Amino acid sequence: MERLEFPKEAFLDGAWRSLPRRFSVVSPATGEVVAEVADCGEEEAKEALEAAVRAFPAWSRATAYERAGVLRRWYELILKHQEPLAQLMALEMGKPLKEGRAEVAYAAGFVEWYAEEAKRIYGETVPSQFPHKRILVRYEPVGPVYGITPWNFPAAMVTRKAAPALAAGCTFVLKPAEESPLTALYLARLFQEAGGPPGVFQVLPTSDPEGVSRPFLEDERIRKLTFTGSTEVGVRLYERAARTLKRVSLELGGGAPVLVFADADLERAVEETLRAKFRNAGESCVAANRIFVEAPIAEAFAQAYAERVRALKVGDPLSEETDIGPLVNEAALRKVQAHVEDALALGARLVVGGEAKGLFFAPTVLLDVKRESLLFREETFGPVAPITVFREEEEAVSWANAFPVGLAAYVFTRDLSRAFRVSEALAYGIVGVNDGVPSTPQAPFGGVKRSGLGREGGKWGLEEYLEVKYVSLGL
Ligand code: NAD
Repeated sequence: MERLEFPKEAFLDGAWRSLPRRFSVVSPATGEVVAEVADCGEEEAKEALEAAVRAFPAWSRATAYERAGVLRRWYELILKHQEPLAQLMALEMGKPLKEGRAEVAYAAGFVEWYAEEAKRIYGETVPSQFPHKRILVRYEPVGPVYGITPWNFPAAMVTRKAAPALAAGCTFVLKPAEESPLTALYLARLFQEAGGPPGVFQVLPTSDPEGVSRPFLEDERIRKLTFTGSTEVGVRLYERAARTLKRVSLELGGGAPVLVFADADLERAVEETLRAKFRNAGESCVAANRIFVEAPIAEAFAQAYAERVRALKVGDPLSEETDIGPLVNEAALRKVQAHVEDALALGARLVVGGEAKGLFFAPTVLLDVKRESLLFREETFGPVAPITVFREEEEAVSWANAFPVGLAAYVFTRDLSRAFRVSEALAYGIVGVNDGVPSTPQAPFGGVKRSGLGREGGKWGLEEYLEVKYVSLGL
């Protein structure tokens, strides 16, 4: 691997700001310090806020073609830098290289999609009941936006928010997760190289998310908050954003159920559930969290699944062969361990895995998991596949829906009527039918209930950053 060179300073008003205060980004794979990064505080936050407000009039009035041009160049540069970005993610949060490359392609896909959509923010005209009146509707950017992203998808969570916001004509200040600021800063460098004007996209790395967020949450001129992370933090931010009546998008926790029916293509159900569970070591908001298999095929499914899980390679995220890297930190490891111990104490059978080494947790399959287990009541966010058996379709659907969040769910069946019936009955924002990885830039991503508000991706993702203006024209 060539020596990786990457920015470590804050990206503020089009320039790199070096700060004497630093915080360490630590590799979860080795425990080594990857970088000492500029640690922004309230002062830098206020500066970035003013810059975003200053940059807004020109960026929002730039033609759609100008904005699309910047985004198009950004997209091309992200793809060109796929390798260093994948390496950075491996270093700062332990994502295996091959998954990192896939994430960069996915992240770039949002920028490409919204570069194209920028040109299609059409207005509308509505017939009036009066001959002398015309009803005109146009879409305008909501204003300067503040965004907060998590560490589990350090590239895609950034572009999924920033690309539609910038396409709409908003300026955007990003506060990345403290575990993974390096990928975000690298994206900022590429934005600058793409000709993005100062103040339009800024990145504030910090070890103090609360302090840096305060000015943005309190200021009337920030018109929108977009957040991806835990439900707990999301709810708190929603309350605070209410005081200045900001528009809010929240992409929160998951805990996806998988329903495998006896009429499913077994091999396909195994493969897709494997991807739905073990991508990113299970540290994904759409990760399969609870696997319900219909009785007649339960044993066959569990055996075939366990065999595939045994073949997964755990190890150095920078190695080409690795499928499963480390968990992000001690707290994540402790949660996974507690969930597994609790399931075993309640009578689950361990089929494969169960052990930890450092922050690496072996991919694990548990059978006969009781529904009162923590694994079935909370989001595990780790490489543990808990399987339990169901007998009736209604039973499986009601188990799946008995969860406070509703982001993604998966159904495996070859019966067309059942595919419709069950996908319509599931109280989830996304349903993968015979598909373990439904996320893609042109589709709406988001959840119901405690999984959040709003959608990212496709035309729906753009609407989150647009305000409707109605002009009544009397002739
Ligand atoms: P988290 O809520 O702890 O952190 C997410 C972000 O919020 C980080 O940038 C963090 O610095 C920031 N933050 C934390 N406290 C804050 C505060 N008081 N003020 C302002 N910002 C604050 O979440 P996490 O544990 O890092 O991420 C995992 C969670 O994110 C899981 O629940 C997962 O399901 C969810 N997630 C959801 C999606 C989605 O699209 N729905 C995608 C990825 C992750």
